[in-house]
Amino acid sequence: MSEARIVVLGAGVVGLTTALLLSKHTKYHVTVVAKHMPGDYDIEYASPWAGANFLPVGKPGTPLQQFEIDTWPELQRLARDVIEAGVHFQDTVVYNRKKDVGSATGNWFAELLKTDPWYKDVVPNFRVLPQSELAPGIDSATSFTSVCINTAIYLPWLVGQCLKNGVIVKRGIVAHVAEAATLHHTGKRADIVVNCTGLSARKLGGVEDAAVYPARGQVVVVRNDPKVMASISGTDDGEDEATYIMHRAAGGGCVLGGCLQKDNWESQPDPNLAMRIMKRCVELCPALTDGKGPEALSIIRHGVGLRPMREGGPRVEKEKIDGLWVVHQYGHAGYGYQSSYGSAMAAEKLVEDVLGAKAKL
Ligand code: FAD
Repeated sequence: MSEARIVVLGAGVVGLTTALLLSKHTKYHVTVVAKHMPGDYDIEYASPWAGANFLPVGKPGTPLQQFEIDTWPELQRLARDVIEAGVHFQDTVVYNRKKDVGSATGNWFAELLKTDPWYKDVVPNFRVLPQSELAPGIDSATSFTSVCINTAIYLPWLVGQCLKNGVIVKRGIVAHVAEAATLHHTGKRADIVVNCTGLSARKLGGVEDAAVYPARGQVVVVRNDPKVMASISGTDDGEDEATYIMHRAAGGGCVLGGCLQKDNWESQPDPNLAMRIMKRCVELCPALTDGKGPEALSIIRHGVGLRPMREGGPRVEKEKIDGLWVVHQYGHAGYGYQSSYGSAMAAEKLVEDVLGAKAKL
């Protein structure tokens, strides 16, 4: 096919990264259509709430593992060479307690917590901390260099990169995925729709994927700078609670988390959970308040986001719906940033397959 019209439905990190890769094909005319855009904070829009960092969790041999492998080089390049993207390198420590094996957070972090993980040759400076450096109750720990993304800078930066490449970005709400094909900026029907609707894929007409469900994440964003990113396998406050600290680039504050509450749609922060999060983070990393306790945290805001979970992992596949080719790109759970480029490359390949096949008709 010589020229092609493409609508990307969704402007979260998944939709915008996919639109960016597609926009590099000069013969693709790309429109991004979305209900929510960078700058919005809404419970239906996961991307602004993320930390966001790169802590690999894909199981060996899964598409997710490949997406993470394929994403790291670009995040590393942005942190190194593209200062205005709002991504910076951070020293990272991951602590493991054997008693968290099998818990919700223990399962989520199972690959991350290993002392001989597959990603040790992907991220720089991986090492296992010696037992002598571990606090009581910690069974093992690793450290490496990761990145932390300031989503308030990065998402608008992605929009800017798309605009520069000729993508048209506009608001729109569709009830059925096929409706998106009518919203191409040329006024002509799109040849293909890329469905990047995250959690909304559960109810979007033509998709209605029952395997998609939310995992609620609550955070406290503070001004304190601990000079390190830290995570631990679990907590003693409930198996769906988590403790992690991510310091964002360029004045984005420090994100304290969290929890992984499956099937919980509550949009408002729970004040008691917020207190537990702050207490646990300061315990894990006393440097957060220079040893002065949780009272010395300077709070910017409380937040809640819903991770778009999907049984079986992200759905990146093509499907013909009511005569329209759709490439699905949703279900990136708690790893939408760290799998963004790899997943977008896989979706790009599917778009090329569809358009290539159409060209031969
Ligand atoms: P979303 O960001 O939800 O975007 C969906 C888009 O689709 C929106 O633009 C929406 O308006 C649009 N849309 C949906 N339905 C329609 C419709 N019918 N019509 C028009 N538009 C529609 N990931 C990491 O990699 N690292 C982290 O450190 C990390 N930390 C996280 C911390 C928290 C607290 C949370 C909640 C998530 C975290 N994540 C992290 C996960 C990450 O945020 C998600 O995986 C990612 O944001 C999903 O992006 P998305 O584009 O698929 O969905």
